[in-house]
Amino acid sequence: MKYIGAHVSASGGVSNAPLNAHAIGAAAFALFTKNQRQWRSSPLSSEEIASFKDAMQRLGYTPAQVLPHDSYLINLGNVSENRKKSIDSFCDEMRRVQQLGLDRLNFHPGAHLNAMTPEENMVKIAEGIDEGLKETEGVFAVIENTAGQGTNLGYTFEQIARIIDHISQPERVGVCMDTCHMFAAGYDIRTWEAYEHTMEQFASVIGFDRLMGVHLNDALNDLGSRVDRHAPLGEGKLGWEPFRYIMQDSRFDSIPLILETPRPELWPEEIRILKGYAGDA
Ligand SMILES: [Zn+2]
Ligand SMILES: [Zn+2]
Repeated sequence: MKYIGAHVSASGGVSNAPLNAHAIGAAAFALFTKNQRQWRSSPLSSEEIASFKDAMQRLGYTPAQVLPHDSYLINLGNVSENRKKSIDSFCDEMRRVQQLGLDRLNFHPGAHLNAMTPEENMVKIAEGIDEGLKETEGVFAVIENTAGQGTNLGYTFEQIARIIDHISQPERVGVCMDTCHMFAAGYDIRTWEAYEHTMEQFASVIGFDRLMGVHLNDALNDLGSRVDRHAPLGEGKLGWEPFRYIMQDSRFDSIPLILETPRPELWPEEIRILKGYAGDA
C-alpha cells in the first residue's frame, strides 16, 4: 500500500492538517507543528493535541502516514552562539511530535557554514540529533538528504551514513529521501537503469530499512546542480517516469510519500496520477 499525500497547511492549528489532507484525497501528510520561520512558538495546548488526535482517528490516519517537518531555522551543524537555539528548538520539535502521538520528525541535517570541516561537522550534527533523542521516547529522528546547496551536508548517502554512525541511538534514526534533492546532488533516476543504480547505492550505503518517508518533487535544475528548487511533477527535469518507478516499487510501501511541489492547486491531480501508477486508484 502506498501512502500518497502532501505537505499541507496547519494554519489555525495542527488539527487542521489532517482535515486539509483528507480534503485533497491524501492518504499521507506532512505538517509543521509550529511556525517554521520563527524560533519561538507557544506550546501545544491540551485542546489542540486532543483535537489533532481526534481528527487523525476520525479520518483514519496512523503515525506511519504522517511526516512532521521541523523549522527551517534549525541548523544542528551550527557551532556559533546560535547552536543552543537550534538544539533547544530541535528538542522542542521532537517533544511536539511525541505529544501529538506521532513517531517521526523529518529534518535537514545541517550546514557547516565554513566553521569547520564537513567531517567534524557531521559529529556536531550527530550530537545535536542525540539531544533530541534523549528528550523523547518513541520518536524517530528522520534525516533528509539535501541538494547540497551552500554548505549543507547530507547530500551524499555516505554523509548520511556517517552522521548515523556517530549517533548514540542509531536504532531511532530514519531517513527521508527527497527526489529533487537527490537529483540536484547528482543521483540520476530518470531512466529505469539510472533509477535501479541509484536505489542500489541507497540500499548498500544506508539501507531501505531506514527509509521512513519520501518527498516527491520534480527538480527545476539539472542533475548535479546542487540547487534546491522544486517543480510540479512532470514539469521539471525529472519528468513523470521516476515517480512511476517509485509507485511501482514495493520498497516504498507503508511510509509517507509527500508532495512538496510548489503549486498546491495541482496536488489533487498529482495524487490522482500517482495513485494510478500505484494501482491503488
Ligand atoms: Zn525538507
Ligand atoms: Zn524535502
